[in-house]
Amino acid sequence: MPDDFSKEVLASLIDAEALYDQAPCGYLSFSADGTVLKINQTLLTWLGYRADEVIFQKNFSEFLSKGGQIHYEMFFRPMLNVSGTVKELSYELAKRDGTTFHVLFSAVAIRNAQNAILAVNAIITDNTHRKHYEREILKAKKLAEEEKRTFQFLADLIPEMIWTADAAGEIDYINERFIHYFALPDKVFSVNRILTKIQPDDRKRFIASWAESLLSVNDLHIELQLQNSSGQYEWHAVKAVPYLNEGRELVKWFGSCTNIDVHKRALKQKDEFISIASHELKTPITSLMGALQLLDRMKNDPSPKMLPSLIERANKNVKKVNTLVGDLLNVSQLNAGQLHLNKARFKLGPMIFNCCEHILAEGRFEILIEGDDSLEAFADQTRIEQVVINFINNAVKYAPASKQIFIAYTAGQGFAKISVADKGPGIPKDKLQHLFDRYYRVDSAGSQYSGLGLGLYICAEIIQRHSGEIGVDSQLGEGSTFWFTLPCSS
Ligand code: ADP
Repeated sequence: MPDDFSKEVLASLIDAEALYDQAPCGYLSFSADGTVLKINQTLLTWLGYRADEVIFQKNFSEFLSKGGQIHYEMFFRPMLNVSGTVKELSYELAKRDGTTFHVLFSAVAIRNAQNAILAVNAIITDNTHRKHYEREILKAKKLAEEEKRTFQFLADLIPEMIWTADAAGEIDYINERFIHYFALPDKVFSVNRILTKIQPDDRKRFIASWAESLLSVNDLHIELQLQNSSGQYEWHAVKAVPYLNEGRELVKWFGSCTNIDVHKRALKQKDEFISIASHELKTPITSLMGALQLLDRMKNDPSPKMLPSLIERANKNVKKVNTLVGDLLNVSQLNAGQLHLNKARFKLGPMIFNCCEHILAEGRFEILIEGDDSLEAFADQTRIEQVVINFINNAVKYAPASKQIFIAYTAGQGFAKISVADKGPGIPKDKLQHLFDRYYRVDSAGSQYSGLGLGLYICAEIIQRHSGEIGVDSQLGEGSTFWFTLPCSS
């Protein structure tokens, strides 16, 4: 050591006692029974005591909470006895002012030659921050679980099927609606299993689009048919949207399947209807044009023999076109809610007779009318006539071999019932429920009769707007009875 090295410098070098006192952790020594033997300033400051108030004055266990004291007796002491050390046990220490703080406690036992514990040296680190973070993490976890539950509650509530997939496209969540739709055993599912539910032709399209979306991280929009739990295929609009985190990394896919089957079928029905309607209109118009051409050719003929039959043909076809266009107009009025009723009181007997005149004039059918002549209705007479004429015309059209048509008008309790019956071929039972649907025709493909499947639908709408009922009773091979009721009250 150089001579000029001053004592003062030496004195300023590291002082073990000062290090002990000002360490960033607490040091504590206590005897086998817990009496405090030595304590550093850091721990004294944390606890709020002076050294003379603690050394030989307090037992270490006095600083512990009730639960801590039990733990100390039941676990700390036996452990120290057996292994000689304890590491990072979590305790709550009480300060002089009654408040508490969390510490981690490690200790080593000092033994004598007979292996009895002489003293215990302990290191205490303040664990308040860690505890705080643990609590925050717990809170965040609870919040996340709560949010997950809210999401699932919402996802189960909406009518769509909802699913999520991880970044690689593996489905990791499906909602209740999804499980029910496919009748899956609980939430056990696999992508392969779901793929089998896609209509085979659509499956290839789906796999290609999904792969493309996964690769490009772009939305997926595709319409395909999914097989429901009863084995039927229904059209769905499938959508998947990538969810990116703040760093613009793909985290998840959120997907939905919306049932658009009714919409798809309605569109198809509309297309079919347009094709039927054009065909139905074209037939009488072609026939009318033929008649007009012939009439044109014979305009200079002094005695045109075919004139009456051509005029009759032209008239018949114009009437057909007029009826078809009338039905179309009626339906668009109904759709727009523009079917206005002009209600008045009238007698049913004469009204029904009016409706039969055109058939009676032809003389091909016999109409037998039976009813209570005093019976009156409060309704829109023109619209009710439209319904009765439709029933009669249908009997003529669909039961041509039945030469008799039976019309009855009777009084029920608070209503009048009007029925039109024929002895025609009748209607199969399974078709009856659809007869009053829009565009419905029993034998739409091979029907030999013209029509748009609108007549009975219009009738049902008219009667419904009069708060009446409409229906049909039919037996195959025996005939059909179409009926409706009108409330009698004004
Ligand atoms: P359309 O205008 O095409 O005649 P409707 O709505 O009046 O249509 O009738 C619907 C279907 O009900 C018809 O396609 C026909 O098959 C059946 N139908 C109606 N009336 C009778 C009847 N009296 N006998 C047998 N079938 C009938």
